[in-house]
Amino acid sequence: MLRQFQLVDRVKSYDPNADEDGLNRAYVFAVKMHGSQKRESGDPFFSHPIEVAGILTEYKLDYATIVTALLHDTVEDTPASYQDIEKLFGKEVADLVEGVTKLSKIQTQSEHSRQAENFRKLVLAMSEDIRVLLIKLADRLHNMRTLQFCKKEEKRIRIARETLDIYAPLAERLGMNKIKDELEDLAFQHLHPDAYESIKTRLDFLRQKGGDLIKDIVDQLKKDLADGGLTVEVYGREKRPYSIWKKMQHKNISFEQICDIMAFRIVVETIADCYHALGIVHTKYPMIPGRYKDYISTPKSNGYQSLHTGIIGPFKERIEVQIRTKEMHDIAELGVAAHWVYKQGEGHSMEGKQFRWMRELLDLLSQSSSSDEFLENTKIAMYKDQIFCFSPKGDLIGLPKDATPVDFAYAIHSNIGDHCIGAKINGEIKPLRTILQNGDQVDILLSKTQTPSPEWERFVVTPKAKSSIRRFIRGQKRLQFIDLGKNLIQSVYKEEKQPWNEKELEALLPVFKQNSLDDLYVMIGEGIILSSEVFYKAHPERKTTFRKVVDIFKHHPSANKTDESDKTNPIKGLISGIALHYAKCCHPVPGDKIVGIVTTGKGVSIHTADCPTLKKFEDEPERWLDIEWNENGLSNKVYPVRLHIVIVDKPNTLSTVLTTVSKYNSNVSHLFTTSKSVGFMELTMDVDIKNTTHLAELMTALKALSVVISVEKAWKS
Ligand code: MN
Repeated sequence: MLRQFQLVDRVKSYDPNADEDGLNRAYVFAVKMHGSQKRESGDPFFSHPIEVAGILTEYKLDYATIVTALLHDTVEDTPASYQDIEKLFGKEVADLVEGVTKLSKIQTQSEHSRQAENFRKLVLAMSEDIRVLLIKLADRLHNMRTLQFCKKEEKRIRIARETLDIYAPLAERLGMNKIKDELEDLAFQHLHPDAYESIKTRLDFLRQKGGDLIKDIVDQLKKDLADGGLTVEVYGREKRPYSIWKKMQHKNISFEQICDIMAFRIVVETIADCYHALGIVHTKYPMIPGRYKDYISTPKSNGYQSLHTGIIGPFKERIEVQIRTKEMHDIAELGVAAHWVYKQGEGHSMEGKQFRWMRELLDLLSQSSSSDEFLENTKIAMYKDQIFCFSPKGDLIGLPKDATPVDFAYAIHSNIGDHCIGAKINGEIKPLRTILQNGDQVDILLSKTQTPSPEWERFVVTPKAKSSIRRFIRGQKRLQFIDLGKNLIQSVYKEEKQPWNEKELEALLPVFKQNSLDDLYVMIGEGIILSSEVFYKAHPERKTTFRKVVDIFKHHPSANKTDESDKTNPIKGLISGIALHYAKCCHPVPGDKIVGIVTTGKGVSIHTADCPTLKKFEDEPERWLDIEWNENGLSNKVYPVRLHIVIVDKPNTLSTVLTTVSKYNSNVSHLFTTSKSVGFMELTMDVDIKNTTHLAELMTALKALSVVISVEKAWKS
């Protein structure tokens, strides 16, 4: 285990200005807080955070990262709190510790590897600061190095699987190949112990048989390149067991058929030297076709650069050769951390440079959009538009930001969406309109009798949920509109004392561009086609002058001069005595901008200027009246306004709401529950309102109540 002074020395060696006292305090704090806790290996627990910090010093990471590594398990496993850490080590460290703690809580619960990509995205989305992810990777690396001590096989397998599916690919994305390689080999040992053993045995055998083959090839290559005028470093190595195994699987070949189990790296000074070295190697040895790749002119999306080639080497064996500069080499091994080190070495002060590598990473990731891999490789930032939530079975569902449990339910299955009545989020019952957060576990509560509520449409965000709800409601509404439309047209027949005759209407279907009588009734019911229009089309001889009626409204001499003494007419711009009614779709109150619409038989209906219903009259400008409130005529008149309110379903909640309404000098004229999900109640409430100010005050007062989740003005009755 790394001793206190050793850790401090390591950090000071690359960051002389690091806060030594802070490092010492963090070391002592970790030891003290973890106290006598033990790891499964029998080691004291505090050895773990210290080793994790040690791993991160190899990457020359900044002070805050190292301190966070020391403290990373204190909030989760000891009595230490965020506040304690903030007080002792500042907000930056406290936030980082919190980030790592949050990440540690997500765990793959599902066996489905198809979920892996979503998990990787979840981890990325949750690591808002890239340092959180680096600490998590180091944490995982140390846990993998000691995984053999874990007694439960099931847990061992799960952690190894998760490492291979989630953390190794993330390390690769950050270009940290050294960590990636080690994670993969460790995971492979636990997942396929037999395969690991046999590959290892086989490698040992070849090594014995070949003697110092690797060393001999290294020496020969060095000599070849020196003859060509290049001074180079050459490193030889066996391929790792996991990469051999992957190749065997991938190409479906046996171990014997894998020839190039040796790989060599030639490290040179400059990029020009890379191509020079490549020329020498290719002149001297036969090249294996299809193996040459130039990642210098086209770097991989994680920033990796090198020339790759395959040759029949000095001793007639197939070998892989990678050629790169020293800087490329460090970046390939260390990834983003190396970028930081290189930039830091530019000779400026350390001030403000500490976080530069993070920006470097983001730049790096966003620039290299050349390959398809790109989308997979980036976006700490991009996943900000997405969240990932768990089902009780451990499936991970990706949803857009601001998604609610209803979206989640529809994402699983339309049947689940249609019948959801409530949701437990992380074990707690929450309203269906709650906005889900990354990593939430969502358990949908179902009821066979529940059907989609029109209210849902106002808060769902996924197209699937939206269209399912609409389809259902349209189906429901259609039946109502058929009924209503038929009633309306029948009443016109009655008024006009004409016998009811559906045949007549059927003949008119082409005129109104409808396919069936039901369709026509729906149009009438929705008010898109006027019942009178249909009647007069069937009986033109009865046609009164609808247009003229409108003209009378508009051009009547009294229309535009309001009688000042007329204190009874609340609206200016209308002939006095005209029947007017306030539209139930928008409930206008004094203070709202308003518009009048002439309706046959009903006089003028008053809508708010932003009422969606007005769309229906867009093509009939002759029916629109320009009107406004008559300040003098308002007196104490009140107007009904319909509110949708979601409240907590508890005793006394309703009376609290009603008390507030009367405190604000309003009355409730109508009250009914529209839907009830577990723990919550949605109310529709008509209240008497004097004007817009009055309404705003009342709504604010209601929203301020702790038992009220939301208050909205209703648009439709
Ligand atoms: Mn840990």
